[in-house]
Amino acid sequence: MPRRIYEGYAYSDAARAECIWPLPDQNWPALDGETTTDVAIIGGGYTGLSAALHLAKSGVDATLLEAHVPGWGASGRNGGFCCIGGDKMGPGAIRKRFGPDAAQAYFTAQRGAIDLVKDLLATNDIDADTHSNGEVQLAHRANVLPTLRAERDHWAGCGIDATLIPQQELANHGLSGTFYGGLHVPLGFALNPGKFVTGLATAAAHAGARIHAHSPALSITQTNGRYRLDTPNGRLIARKLILATNGYGTDGLPDWLTGRYLPLQSNILVTRPLSDSEISAQGWTTDLMAYDSRNLLHYFRLLPDRRFLFGARGNVRASAQGQTEMRARMRRDLAALFPAWAKIETPYFWSGLISLSRDLLPYAGPIGAWENAWAGMNYHGNGVAMGTWVGVRLADMAMGRSSALPIHTRTLPRFPLPGLRRSYLYPAILGYRWKDGPPTA
Ligand SMILES: Cc1cc2nc3c(=O)[nH]c(=O)nc-3n(C[C@H](O)[C@H](O)[C@H](O)COP(=O)(O)OP(=O)(O)OC[C@H]3O[C@@H](n4cnc5c(N)ncnc54)[C@H](O)[C@@H]3O)c2cc1C
Repeated sequence: MPRRIYEGYAYSDAARAECIWPLPDQNWPALDGETTTDVAIIGGGYTGLSAALHLAKSGVDATLLEAHVPGWGASGRNGGFCCIGGDKMGPGAIRKRFGPDAAQAYFTAQRGAIDLVKDLLATNDIDADTHSNGEVQLAHRANVLPTLRAERDHWAGCGIDATLIPQQELANHGLSGTFYGGLHVPLGFALNPGKFVTGLATAAAHAGARIHAHSPALSITQTNGRYRLDTPNGRLIARKLILATNGYGTDGLPDWLTGRYLPLQSNILVTRPLSDSEISAQGWTTDLMAYDSRNLLHYFRLLPDRRFLFGARGNVRASAQGQTEMRARMRRDLAALFPAWAKIETPYFWSGLISLSRDLLPYAGPIGAWENAWAGMNYHGNGVAMGTWVGVRLADMAMGRSSALPIHTRTLPRFPLPGLRRSYLYPAILGYRWKDGPPTA
């Protein structure tokens, strides 16, 4: 029996009602009646749309089903950090588990993912308000500085010239806040996620992919080497299947998925446009994307229209009340980290679902023992670049061009007691909050 692990609020329009990024206004048709396709794709975020685009450009008949409209999920409501990431395991542990060659291949994939997005923006004429030469990690405590130094050395080993910024230099870099120093890693850039996902959907449709909005796959049945997907008003029969539902997946759809992903809420506040004097009062003038060193990190950037975007995780309740509490918490955090902006209005606030794996790695590989069926998911809150890249890999798999993906393709472990896995988040978040300490530095 299909089952979602959060309350209905997390899957409703209410959670994104105050999102600053508009949804695409194209009139995508719903699936109506029975139709056949070569590759069926479930989910219209970066993963599914990138797969659809790549397949269609290669002349493959691909049909995408999206429960709402393309970009409705995390892809149309994220922070727009197009950056290195996708896992929570970390480079040292990855090297230990998979060996140096696989770790190197994974790093190459992460860089390739950023380049892929850059290339998609350029080749499809998508103006996504890009800015920021890489990102800055800011120490929320003095005792984090040795870790930043070790990370700088790690990046040097990868051929990346990361720069340590001592606390007394932060203001000169336009990075004034309650921080103890920073590490600038010149990898990645920021974009407007709504414009990127809209551009991707438009490009996929122009390339020939059939995109159906308001067409949730309610069931997936495998018979006689075909997949049958039933939607409220239609039925799609496909030879091959790609599942790209990430944090918006449903346990039991299909059975293999149950317990192999753990959705977690991420939230964003956006201020009204700030005046020159408000910006200089805080001393945060950089256009770099940034995040702090907490376990429950804050991520932030000054948008090109001079609003400040401020994101955080750490709420487990998915309800209007939970949203109100998280908004208040984030207002307090914003005031603590950027005191000059304590009273600035924040007219936008929304939340969405990211997804984690039990083994803290992203996934791109088969759906269990099913033939000709693949899934891509669990980017640990960093799916702008990695999700787009995984979409291309899934398309390659569907075209029989499977490349070796030592990190992504493995047996994806289930969380123990899958039905209760959301309850693991309560102690984990409380523990992280305790370790991180209060938001004031
Ligand atoms: C608030 C927030 C901030 C974030 N910030 C960043 C960031 O700055 N940088 C970064 O790299 N990542 C960020 N992320 C994560 C990133 O947005 C995701 O990793 C990425 O968008 C995942 O893309 P996806 O296509 O796999 O899934 P999604 O974009 O979530 O798309 C899944 C889609 O599947 C659809 N769906 C589900 N079930 C069905 C079904 N049965 N039938 C049809 N359709 C279905 C859903 O409606 C949804 O649209 C953030 C996420 C959130 C929520």
